[in-house]
Order: sequence, then structure tokens, then C-alpha cells
Amino acid sequence: MTSAGIAQRPGPAPDGHWWDLAACAGSDPEWWGDDRAMRPLAVRICLGCPVREPCLKEAVLSGDLGVVRGGMLLVEVHRRRQAISLVCAFCNTQPVRATRTGHARYCGSRCQAASTRRSRERRAAA
Ligand code: SF4
Ligand SMILES: [Zn+2]
Repeated sequence: MTSAGIAQRPGPAPDGHWWDLAACAGSDPEWWGDDRAMRPLAVRICLGCPVREPCLKEAVLSGDLGVVRGGMLLVEVHRRRQAISLVCAFCNTQPVRATRTGHARYCGSRCQAASTRRSRERRAAA
């Protein structure tokens, strides 16, 4: 599915009508596609979406590259598909910012500092 595909909506999946429950229905599909500045908002909507799992599964199966699905971004690197999480690696509840070269790993400096502290504590305890 492309970003335009989100606006068009695919037909119901064979295993059910999960798309009917999509939290992104009615939102601007560009937020999930090319508009990197709006991706955090798209991810925030994905985080509260009841069909996050089947959506991501379908995205992987169909190779929906460059589009946010289930809070992840599917990309192809050296001909291999990867799903990049756009959710904070520490708190796991907030979207990350888009940067000039990609996406931040944390939602903000507080989570980044907390993650560094935790790593330090783990190393000290080992
Ligand atoms: S997980 Fe995100 S992209 Fe998928 S249906 Fe829900 S809101 Fe839309
Ligand atoms: Zn965070």
C-alpha cells in the first residue's frame, strides 16, 4: 500500500474487517507517507489504534515501503526490508522526532538520559 493507498483503503482482509477499525480513517494520508514533519502525529494515532498488529503484518506482507504502519516505518536497505520503530526506545509510548538523516531513537532528552543511566547501571551491576 502506498500513502495514497491509505486514503483509498484496501478491501477487508480475508481474516476479518480490521481496516474498519483503523484509527487513521479520515486523516490526511500524507502524515503516514511523505510528510516527515507530521509522522510523529501519525505514530501517535497508530499507538492508539486497535488494529496496529494486523496493519503492520499486512504492511510487511505487501512490502509497503516508506509508509508508517503500526508505528513502524518499512524501508529497504541493501535489498533487505527493515521495520524501523518510530516509537521511543525507552518509554515505548511516545513517537520519536524525524531528523535530517532519519529518526531519533528517543522521544526526547529525558528518555535519552534515562536510557543512558539505565545502561550505565546495568554495566555497573554486571
Ligand atoms: S496502525 Fe496506524 S496505519 Fe495502521 S490502521 Fe492503525 S492508524 Fe492506520
Ligand atoms: Zn520516551
